[in-house]
Amino acid sequence: MPDKSYKIAVIPGDGIGPEVTSSAVKVLKAVSEKFGFELNFSEYKAGGCAIDEFGIPLPEATLEGCKSSDAVLLGAVGGPKWDKVDAKIRPEKALLGLRAGLGLYSNLRPALLFEELASASPLKNVSNIDILIVRELTGGIYFGEHGRYDSSELLSDGSSKGTVAFDTESYSVAEIERIVREGFRYAMGRSKKLTLVDKANVLESSRLWREVAEKISSEYPEVALDYLYVDNCSMQLINRPETFDVIVTSNMFGDILSDEAGMITGSIGMLPSASLGAPGTPGMYEPVHGSAPDIAGTGKANPLATILSAAMLLRWSLDETEAADLVEEAVKKTLKDGFRTVDIASGDSDTVLGTEEITAKVLERI
Ligand code: NAD
Repeated sequence: MPDKSYKIAVIPGDGIGPEVTSSAVKVLKAVSEKFGFELNFSEYKAGGCAIDEFGIPLPEATLEGCKSSDAVLLGAVGGPKWDKVDAKIRPEKALLGLRAGLGLYSNLRPALLFEELASASPLKNVSNIDILIVRELTGGIYFGEHGRYDSSELLSDGSSKGTVAFDTESYSVAEIERIVREGFRYAMGRSKKLTLVDKANVLESSRLWREVAEKISSEYPEVALDYLYVDNCSMQLINRPETFDVIVTSNMFGDILSDEAGMITGSIGMLPSASLGAPGTPGMYEPVHGSAPDIAGTGKANPLATILSAAMLLRWSLDETEAADLVEEAVKKTLKDGFRTVDIASGDSDTVLGTEEITAKVLERI
């Protein structure tokens, strides 16, 4: 009987979600057997399938099941079938409910270029891209005060302003401290380089981020901290992506930059992510892509983003580092040996496989 045992909540979701989570669960089972720890999986519904069955996207049982687990593995939610449901119960509400309910304030989005897939990058002559974007997930402008009002003020051309809409960016020292500290912690485990991305030339909230980061940097003297304005960062990610290591930033800047960084590494089918809360609470792991309704049920979905999300789960929630390394190595070897799903296939020498077949290749390499 293994002496280590973990509870994993699995939310397959909609579209290709069940196909890719099934692959990741097989991989998790294989490494748990190899390294002698036990994984107990429980499946829960969220998203469109939960709307169909329960009339709401996030049933209480799902949230409670996730809360009482060590980690959550999620496929994807949503699809055209639920596009017209009431905005209050849209499938995506399940994600917001899970983030809020589990207190997930930190979003990790690695952008790693697999050398074998370099030709899929829209950039020429790229190599050695390995960036970790640490995005604050529960504060900032997405959660600040929003509103509209009517204004009788005039613009310089004499026209009346009319209706005004506003969204407020606000951050507290405590919110900045906990996410910036995460950034330093990840940088310590990597190349010891941290870039804080902000707009401190214009925004007061960004100036507070800098003050807090400067203060915390004294606790991590080995980490080289630098600052970049977000507009410059978006250029430098294209110009010199290989020079970045860990980027820490606010909710909105992280949202935009992580998509940009993901794109330069090639296919959306390769991008994993993690959302984490306070130490000791369950993290949630999911591919960056959506439910891909256009290919759901065809057996063509690339499961590697979800398998790499499972590797993050092993690393960050279970502290099973060797198992995480092995999963990542197995994915790399699978690509090196020329196996591809259709979304990442390019050359004639590639062997194009379906979801289950490429999962089998990863399993053979574990
Ligand atoms: P999408 O990521 O589902 O698909 C975009 C394109 O990428 C499609 O052509 C799809 O076939 C392809 N693709 C995505 N994942 C793939 C994979 N693993 N293998 C091969 N090809 C893949 O984005 P979308 O089409 O904008 O959204 C579809 C649905 O997913 C919508 O309902 C959207 O709201 C939802 N969505 C959910 C999440 C989530 O659950 N976290 C994230 C994004 C979108």
